[in-house]
Amino acid sequence: MTQPLNIRDLVREFDPQLVGKELHNFAQRLYPICRSITGAGIRETLQILGEQLPLKIHEVPSGAQVLDWTVPPEWNVRDAWVRDSCGRKIIDFKCHNLHVLNYSVPVQGKFTLDELKPHLFSAPTQPDVIPYRTSYYSKNWGFCMTHRDLEALQPGIYDVLIDSTLEPGYLSYGELFLPGKSDDTVLISTHCCHPSLANDNLSGISIAAQLASQLTNIDRQYSYRFIFVPATIGALTWLARNESQLENITHGLVLSCLGDSGEFTYKKSRRGDAVIDRVGRYVLETSGQRYKLMEFSPYGYDERQYCSPGFNLPVGCLMRTPHGQFPEYHTSADNLDFITPKALGDSLEILLRIVEVLENNRRYLNTSPKGEPQLNKRGIYSTIHEEVMAMLTGHGLLKVLDQV
Ligand code: ZN
Repeated sequence: MTQPLNIRDLVREFDPQLVGKELHNFAQRLYPICRSITGAGIRETLQILGEQLPLKIHEVPSGAQVLDWTVPPEWNVRDAWVRDSCGRKIIDFKCHNLHVLNYSVPVQGKFTLDELKPHLFSAPTQPDVIPYRTSYYSKNWGFCMTHRDLEALQPGIYDVLIDSTLEPGYLSYGELFLPGKSDDTVLISTHCCHPSLANDNLSGISIAAQLASQLTNIDRQYSYRFIFVPATIGALTWLARNESQLENITHGLVLSCLGDSGEFTYKKSRRGDAVIDRVGRYVLETSGQRYKLMEFSPYGYDERQYCSPGFNLPVGCLMRTPHGQFPEYHTSADNLDFITPKALGDSLEILLRIVEVLENNRRYLNTSPKGEPQLNKRGIYSTIHEEVMAMLTGHGLLKVLDQV
C-alpha cells in the first residue's frame, strides 16, 4: 500500500489544467440528466457519483417531517411536448429538459392559445434563452421556452402532453464520511437538484466529488463529511436527521457556481468571524486571484439552513459569480460552454488550499512556562519559528491565522 500523501504534497503536485479538464468532462456526463429535488434524475446522478466515491445514498420517504417542512411526493417525467394544429412539435422536452416546468403535474389535452399562455414561461429580457422554472410546493404545470418562440405562436388549438408522475416515493441524497484523527468535522455541502445547468450546479458537484476523492488519499487531521443534497429540502432533511452530531461540525463550506470565469466570492457564515471565514479570506487574499467577500445574508444557497439561528453552524459559501448576478443564471445559457476547465481547476485549487490551512492550523501551548526553557537540550536553539516563539512568549500562538 502506498503511503498516504500529506495535504501539502497534494497542493504542490496539483495540476489545475489537467484536473480542470477532468472536472469539465464529468460535468459533461451529468449535463443531459433531468434532475429535480426528487426522482430518477437525482438518483442517477448520485449513482454516477457513487462510481468514483463510496457514497452512501439515503432515501427518505415522501411525507417525512423535516424541521418545518415535509418531504414532497417524488416527481418523475418521461415526456412532455406541445403540438400545433399541424401536428408539429413546437416545444419538446426531449430537445431540452428545461422546457418542462420542473415538478409539473401530468396533463393531456387540447388548449387554445389563450388557455395555454398562463402555462408558458419565457424571459422577455433575454429572448433567446429558455428559463429554468420550478413549482415544487404548489401544484402547477407548464412549459418554458424562448421569448422569441413564444411571440411567434399563432392563435389555434394546441395539443399538450406532460407525461409525469407525482406520487409517494423518496427524496434521495448522498453522503460520504472520511474519518480523520479527530472527530472534529469539516462539512462540504453542494446541491445536486438542478437539471441541465452547468455552473449552477454541475460545477459544485464535480468539484466536491473531486475534492472528496483527493482527500481520500491524504493523512487527515480532521474528519470530512461530504453531502450531495437537493437544495433547501435536502439540506433541511440532512440537518433534521443529524441534529445530534452537529456539534462535531467545526468548519463547513457550501459549494456552488464555481465554473464561470468571474472573480471568486467568499460568503461568510452568520458568525462572520468563524475560523472558516478567516481561512477563506486568507487563502483568497494570498492566492493572486481576484475575489470579493460577502457578509452573510439569509438568501442564497444551503448556508441559509446551516447558518439558520437555531443551528448557526460555522459554514461559509465559496462561489465565483453569485447566483442571480450573471445573465446566464437559471437559463439554458448556463451550459457547458459557460463553464471552463481553467475556472473549475482554479476553484478546486482554492479549496485544497483552504483544506491545507485548516489541516495545519495549530495552537501551540508552552508546557514549560517557568523561566526560559533551555532550547539547546531540545535541539532547537538556532531555529526560530512559531513553536519556539510560543515557548518564549509563554502563550499559545495561532499558526498562520495570527498573520492574517
Ligand atoms: Zn439555482
